[in-house]
Amino acid sequence: MLGLMMPTPLLVKGLIEHAARWHGSTEIVSRLPEGGPLHRTTYAQVHARARQLAHAFTRLGVAPGARVATLAWNTHRHLELYYGISGLGAVCHTINPRLFFEQLVYIVNHAEDEVLCFDLTFLPLVEKLAPHCPTVRHWVLLTGAAHRPAATSLPGLLDYETLLAAEQPNFEWPELDENTASSLCYTSGTTDQPKGVLYSHRSTLLHSYAASLPDCFGCGARDVVLPVVPMFHVNAWGIPYLAPLNGCKLVMPGPALDPASLFELFESEGVTFSAGVPTIWFGLLQFMREGPRRFSTLRRMIVGGASCPPALLRAFAEELGVEIRHAWGMSETSPLGTVSTLKTNQLSWPPAEQFRELTKQGRAIYGVDMEIVDDAGQPLPHDGVAFGDLLVRGPFIASGYFGGVQSSQFAASGWFRTGDVGTIDAEGFLQITDRSKDVIKSGGEWISSIDLENLAVAHPAVAEAAVIGVPHPKWSERPLLIVVRKPGQQVSAQELLAFYDGKIAAWQRPDAVEFVEQLPHTATGKLLKTQLRQDFAGYELKA
Ligand code: ADP
Repeated sequence: MLGLMMPTPLLVKGLIEHAARWHGSTEIVSRLPEGGPLHRTTYAQVHARARQLAHAFTRLGVAPGARVATLAWNTHRHLELYYGISGLGAVCHTINPRLFFEQLVYIVNHAEDEVLCFDLTFLPLVEKLAPHCPTVRHWVLLTGAAHRPAATSLPGLLDYETLLAAEQPNFEWPELDENTASSLCYTSGTTDQPKGVLYSHRSTLLHSYAASLPDCFGCGARDVVLPVVPMFHVNAWGIPYLAPLNGCKLVMPGPALDPASLFELFESEGVTFSAGVPTIWFGLLQFMREGPRRFSTLRRMIVGGASCPPALLRAFAEELGVEIRHAWGMSETSPLGTVSTLKTNQLSWPPAEQFRELTKQGRAIYGVDMEIVDDAGQPLPHDGVAFGDLLVRGPFIASGYFGGVQSSQFAASGWFRTGDVGTIDAEGFLQITDRSKDVIKSGGEWISSIDLENLAVAHPAVAEAAVIGVPHPKWSERPLLIVVRKPGQQVSAQELLAFYDGKIAAWQRPDAVEFVEQLPHTATGKLLKTQLRQDFAGYELKA
């Protein structure tokens, strides 16, 4: 027997319609790439302009299913693009400008983008890209006529504000099938070519509900949300969708992601909630300490995308009174998979154990099922000790890559193989120990590079640290610690190795330390260990 409830499809347009109708005057404040004072708009205006935009794209010949690309910072215009493109049934393809040039060319061609909308910052890059991108029919500069370049090699360059000004805000959003594709994001591809993750309206809506829950982002209509995490990668962790769902005020930092600019916005706009990768928060922490400065309104942040070192979590909580929630996810999981918050029974645990639990990547959020398995694919015990390949499944987890690109990650029936390795404890908390290709196997035992890195960055002289496995005559592989020192700080290899004493088993301690000026990163700011392994190929440890 079927239920008797309305079969209203779960569509992205519903989010902005809701915000425009019930939170119409709530502000969206942006720092624009072209400079000038902060730009202020509202959900009602964003909705109206998204409807004008949908008219404009239709006039340019964008049909349902077509890919419209964006190369843009977090601003109100990018938000309008999210809704205007997906709302009309086209696919919003967000492009990460930090990818290598060859990767950018590859993904624009692979996605067969028809329109490319970009911020002024990226004009020189787009001019370079254009001759390699035959599918792109229209180039749209995200600004007004006043900021158009005097000369450009881009054929028929359009500007966003002029396009919009010619249209009425009355586009009728089509009632799409909720499984229609809404947006597309390519993984940063540390080893292979980038792979496209194609989100649907349904998966986006379900992820928005799940990410809104109290133990996840927990944002409401009294929150002021500043996404540091970029809208050009994994939909800024869903914030552009969950903010209108909840009626949050949005503060968009544009290209200014340095600590001073962020702090200024946090304070001037009364930001209560933020989200981003650990590197950003390390920079901000240093800035806060230098003042010393205090936040007047910031209460909570989600930190993920890479392991959040316990030292960061502790510093924000104890020195600045800001709760960090550690989260794990990936492009293929929309991206939120787990978030670390305590359960009732854990409130009676000793503080040190509670803290340890909070430093893990956390519990599966509703909509995500997860398992760890051994090499034979058999589930491992949830005892916080056994570790294996992490598999996930659920309604906002990818079932394949765009364009039929094959991957063994979809081989396990009904599960997606994440490529991460971790433990799950008796309370269901996941701890990521490594990416599967980064695990260090020493004499048959595995050593977690993430654990060793987290401990190293707790040393006051260390700015950043990476640990890789290098060949060893007796143990087959041993950990090598590679360190970037903080400016003006001195610390020796012996001091750093001694810093591990009492914190881990002696056999897990790195065998050697190398100092470098900087570490290589992927386009999404993660350590590029493939590069490090190349750089240190042939490195010899003493037996
Ligand atoms: P990529 O395009 O590089 O895959 P993603 O943004 O999808 O970029 O990155 C996902 C990966 O980032 C995960 O598979 C995991 O290895 C790593 N990651 C994300 N969050 C965390 C975390 N909290 N702790 C450790 N690793 C993380």
